[in-house]
Amino acid sequence: MAKFPERVFSGMQPTHTLHLGNYLGAMVNWIAMQETHSCIYCVVDLHAITLFQAPKELVGNIREVTAAYLACGLDPKRSIIFNQSQVHEHAELAWVFNCVARLGWLNRMTQFKEKAGKDRENASVGLYAYPNLMAADILVYKGTHVPVGEDQKQHLELARDIAQKFNNDFADSIRERGHGDSFFPLPEPMIIGPATRVMSLRDGTKKMSKSDPSDYSRISLTDDADSIAQKLRKAKTDAEPLPGEIDGLKNRPEAENLVGIYAALAGTAKDAVLEEFAGAQFSRFKPALSDLAVAKLSPIAEEMRRLKSDPRYIDSVLADGAERASAIAAPIMSDVKDIVGLLRTRL
Ligand code: ATP
Ligand code: MG
Repeated sequence: MAKFPERVFSGMQPTHTLHLGNYLGAMVNWIAMQETHSCIYCVVDLHAITLFQAPKELVGNIREVTAAYLACGLDPKRSIIFNQSQVHEHAELAWVFNCVARLGWLNRMTQFKEKAGKDRENASVGLYAYPNLMAADILVYKGTHVPVGEDQKQHLELARDIAQKFNNDFADSIRERGHGDSFFPLPEPMIIGPATRVMSLRDGTKKMSKSDPSDYSRISLTDDADSIAQKLRKAKTDAEPLPGEIDGLKNRPEAENLVGIYAALAGTAKDAVLEEFAGAQFSRFKPALSDLAVAKLSPIAEEMRRLKSDPRYIDSVLADGAERASAIAAPIMSDVKDIVGLLRTRL
């Protein structure tokens, strides 16, 4: 396969304010990748509406998530930051991919099953087709590297399958138009660090999510010191003290989760945390974790408050980002139309 220039793409949904799972599973890697790659970071509002969002809240959440991106350390000069719906090529390519992806592939997606729940007949078509839009988000920029949490691994595999099938189905057209043996790269998931799947504080078998109805299930980036301490104090645990080694966390999902969060916040590994806290009760470990979380998160919350008081600045970042994103996406989408055989007469 042809060598594609490296380009990072990733996004988060403006379904609620960001939480510790978004931060540790994805954001810390987004920030790091700015040093080495050209990066596009998107607020994926078209994904958010796959579940109903109240319009006024959605507008607010798009600005809020953008403020979180900036407060966490994304640099709008170095990276491209924008909201998805302002670059129409995402939706356009998603339609083409709706016609490339197979029903059987989408039927295997576990996120749809979890989010649709028991009342599957009543789920939106958008929720079902979500992974096709996600593939389009990445591939409309020929993105090669996608830093995400562990829950998105299956969707990334699907994006690779879609890219591969497009390259195969249209191989002759791709070659005739001078794109060599493949038009799209096969994007690689980057799932890195000790907290790639942060679990709910209420249930160690469920991932921490923006869309979880319980606010006690997650630590949000906007939580103050008191709420962080209270949520961690109430976090579900078992009665055993912490073990000295990783093996001792087996079948203890809640303990493992808190140790993973501590390790990620401290920038260390789980075994180093266990070395320090071997034999400790949660009554000692939880306050230590609270202090660490407050120290790391409160500067972010403060910067978010500052940014949110200036929505015009936020909007200017999104406008500039959307323009730069369009400049990359438009010619790629135009090539896709030529490859597929969609006649254009208005050029
Ligand atoms: P929603 O419940 O609305 O789906 P979410 O919390 O799952 O929200 P997304 O916007 O879907 O957040 O995902 C944004 C990024 O955060 C993705 O890269 C995803 O893999 C990552 N992520 C989400 N939840 C977690 C988690 N609990 N642990 C680690 N990474 C996570
Ligand atoms: Mg999600």
